[in-house]
Parts: sequence; structure tokens; C-alpha cells
Amino acid sequence: MTNSLSLKHGLSIWCPQSSFVNRITPRSTSLPFSRSQRRNYIVSSSAFANENREFVIVGGGNAAGYAAKTFVEHGMADGKLCMVCKEAFAPYERPALTKAYLFPKDKKPARLPGFHTCVGSGGERQTPDWYKEQGIEMLYEDPVTGLDIEKQTLTTSSGKLLKYGALIISTGCTAMRFPEKIGGNLPGVHYVRDVADADSLISSLEKARKVVIVGGGYIGMEVAAAAVAWKLDTTIIFPEDNLLPRLFTPSLARRYEELYQENGVKFLKGSLIKNIEAGSDGHVAAVKLENGSTIEADTIIIGVGAKPAVQGFEAVGLDTKVGGIQVDGLFRTNVPGIFAIGDVAAFPLKIYDKIARVEHVDHARKSAQHCVKALLTAHTQTYDYLPYFYSRVFEYEGSARKVWWQFYGENVGEAIEVGNFDPKIATFWIDSGKLKGVFLESGSSEEFQLLPRLARSQPMVDKVKLQNASSVEEALEIAQSSLETPVAV
Ligand SMILES: Cc1cc2nc3c(=O)[nH]c(=O)nc-3n(C[C@H](O)[C@H](O)[C@H](O)COP(=O)(O)OP(=O)(O)OC[C@H]3O[C@@H](n4cnc5c(N)ncnc54)[C@H](O)[C@@H]3O)c2cc1C
Repeated sequence: MTNSLSLKHGLSIWCPQSSFVNRITPRSTSLPFSRSQRRNYIVSSSAFANENREFVIVGGGNAAGYAAKTFVEHGMADGKLCMVCKEAFAPYERPALTKAYLFPKDKKPARLPGFHTCVGSGGERQTPDWYKEQGIEMLYEDPVTGLDIEKQTLTTSSGKLLKYGALIISTGCTAMRFPEKIGGNLPGVHYVRDVADADSLISSLEKARKVVIVGGGYIGMEVAAAAVAWKLDTTIIFPEDNLLPRLFTPSLARRYEELYQENGVKFLKGSLIKNIEAGSDGHVAAVKLENGSTIEADTIIIGVGAKPAVQGFEAVGLDTKVGGIQVDGLFRTNVPGIFAIGDVAAFPLKIYDKIARVEHVDHARKSAQHCVKALLTAHTQTYDYLPYFYSRVFEYEGSARKVWWQFYGENVGEAIEVGNFDPKIATFWIDSGKLKGVFLESGSSEEFQLLPRLARSQPMVDKVKLQNASSVEEALEIAQSSLETPVAV
């Protein structure tokens, strides 16, 4: 969700796979351990107990929670696995923070332990007690500050020295901030990345009257939908011409903008922030735009993207184009025995033959599971991810219309929109006759299940038939039939 990136749908995509293969150092072209080494290594695990941790996960977020689950499934967690967290909480499903977490108090907001991983994918709720029961050592509020590759040790902010056997880096991203000199740190200015940020925002919303949201991406759209549920005067400001321009076509964006306006949200499009101003009490009071106008605000939320949290891990090899830590299709970094997963990993996106970083929860979950499986078993199949994005807004009790859309694939080529947003609408992206990407709002579960099949297969589709479809259902049937029926072009 990094705004500065050029790709329309939230992937940071860089170079062809061939360059990736070239830059892998010889020592990382094989598995981190040979099969026999790995067997010995695993058998000798008790030698790593306590002072010498066999497996260490740095970061206690979405990917870390799913990685822990996979260690447990392989019987390799008890007494062997340690997780080092910056936050005070066990891993949770982070997307909830700008959704149900921000509901007003009378609309049953989500709170921990309700959304610990892995409930987001229908799995077990892994509370702090679950980690204890599984014999996983959890270090809370003690971020890693240094890594010594030669000695295989980590240093934490409290001064602990942790020896590891294998290391998984899952430090995610940090929110991009406005500089202090333009008011980016004033009281009343918020960034939402973790529970502490969301709690701080809620305490502002409780007293707020005028809310300004900077950024028309996922965070901006989700926070705005929540702010109007608090019955607050809400304005979204962004420099582009429409909401979520990296995914939405202008036509699709217009539908959502109208829906937001019906819910009371105001828009200031094509607007750049000059600075944020404080009142006489030092608290934020207004936003000044480059065009000279001033918008009053007592609460400001900045949602302008995120950057990979790589500090302290530079030596394992960073990707200079998409940012983050370079890994191969098994999430191995250039250093044997060190892996990176989730938002922070720059990995080969096989389906499009590109290097990408994906800042979405589906990839966090799948990359974690794939990496741990490869680390613990003889599994050598490389990761083959299909980009998937979703959002859910206006889902609180009493909302006139709940919104839930999903997108699979790549938004390249010509976009064909079908449906009148009643509430269904679909957009199909077709490139050289092939269906490359598909977006669906308010589909049935069967319809949503069809989307990944379409985006993965990229069938040749009859564009004219699709354009003439009288309903979303008919368009999806046409697309589905193209999976079986090749179209002559
Ligand atoms: C508010 C919000 C809403 C979102 N909504 C959606 C959505 O609707 N759909 C979607 O697909 N995706 C969404 N995302 C993105 C999704 O949450 C991320 O892709 C996912 O959380 C990535 O998982 P991760 O484990 O890589 O990183 P994170 O979940 O961010 O976890 C990283 C963890 O590492 C910790 N950490 C950082 N540095 C250190 C260190 N040095 N030592 C120890 N710990 C460290 C961090 O504090 C954090 O707890 C949202 C993200 C946010 C912030």
C-alpha cells in the first residue's frame, strides 16, 4: 500500500525474474540445510533449548501468527520456537484495526482477544495462553535492534542476546509519516498501524467534531467509513482524481465516491497538503492546502502508504527497487538459515514473472505457511502467489449498505464494467484478449470463489459478449464458460 509506487494495484513490482536469479549468491541457491544436515539439526534441537533458540521469528504480526501455527502443525514449536514482538500483544489480524475495531462503542467494536490470528482464515484463535500451551517462548515489547549474522545472534532493545538456529524476519511495514516540520507529529494527528495507534485514534474520535483523512487509499476509505458511523464531520483529501486509483477505474471509483457522499463523507480531490497547523493549545486545528485554502480539523488521520521495516536487517540483502528484504521462491534470503515473509519480503511473483512486495494479509498468511513448510520439510515447490485484495466497509449495525469487494489478478489492459452497483458490480480487465483481473462487489460466495479461478487461468474471453452482458451474473457466466471454451481471436 505504498503510495509512491507506480503499480496500480498495490504491488511493488520491479524486474524480470532473470535478474532475480542472477543476483542470488551461490550459497543461497540450495536449501539452507541439506536434507541430512536438516535431519541432524532437527534431532539435535534440544541443544538449542533455552539459551540457544532453534527457530526465532522476529515480529509478532499477521505473518508471524500463521508461521507459529505451521510450526505447531509440524510438531516443531514446543521448546524450539521463540517469537520476538515489538507490540504488547500476541499476533492478531491487523486489517481489523481500520474496520470493526473503529466501530463506535454502541455498535459492538472488535477487541482483542477476539481477532488474534488465525481467526481471519477460519483458524484457531491463538491467544497468549495458546502460545504458552504450545511451548512457544514469547517476548513482548522488546523489539530486535541488531543482528549478528556470523554469531547467529539477535540483540533486543532491553539488551537480551538471543542465539538462533534459523531466523524468520516478519517485521511488516511502518506507516509513512508527515515530517514533524509540517505538523506530522502534532497531538491529534494519527497513523494507524497497530493496536496502540488505533486506541489513540479512538480516544480522539470520542471527542472529535471535524475529522480530516489524508489519503484516498484503503486506510483512508476504511477510516472515513468508520468516522461517519461516529456521526462526525468527515473529509477525505487526496492528490489524485479519484479514490483508490491504483485499483479502481475512474468509473468504479465514482460509484464508491457517491456511496461515501450519501453517507456524509466529503471529498477534496486533486489537493495537496502544505502543512498541518496547531491551535493555541498545541493540538491540531487545521490543514492548510497548497492552493491556499484551510480546512478546520480536530482529528487528522494520515493514510499515505507504508514502508518495509528493515532497520537492523540490511545485511541480509535488501531489494533496491521494491524495497524490503530479497528472498527467493522459498523465502530464503541471501544468508543461509535466514528467511523473510509477509509485507517485508521482496519475492518472485511467478505468475507475472516479476519481483514484488505485497502488503496484504492473504500474502502474509500464505508466505508464512509456505516458508515454514519449506524450512521444516523437504518441500521445495516455489511460491506461486495470485494477487488478491479485498476491503469491507460500512459493516456496522444500522448501516444502510454494507460493502465487501474482492479483486484477483492484475488490473492491466482494457476494463469492462458490468452492473449498476445495486449493490453488485464487476469489472473485468482484459489484455490481449486474456482475462487478467476481476473485481466483484457484493458477490455470493460461489461467485467470489470463481474469481481466483478466472484470474489464475487467464482465459481468452469474448469481450463483446462481456460488454453486452445485462447483469453481473450473466457476465460471470460468460467468463466462467470461457474457462472451458477457448475463444478464437
Ligand atoms: C490498518 C490496516 C488495515 C489493513 N487492512 C487490510 C485489508 O483490508 N486487507 C488486506 O489484505 N490487508 C490489509 N492490511 C495489510 C495487512 O494487515 C498486512 O499485509 C499484514 O499485516 C502483513 O503482515 P506482516 O506480519 O508482514 O506484518 P505486520 O502484521 O505489520 O506485523 C509486523 C510486526 O512486526 C513488529 N516489528 C517490527 N519491527 C520489529 C522488530 N525490530 N522487532 C520485533 N518486532 C518488530 C511490528 O510491531 C508488528 O507487530 C491492513 C494493514 C493495516 C495497517
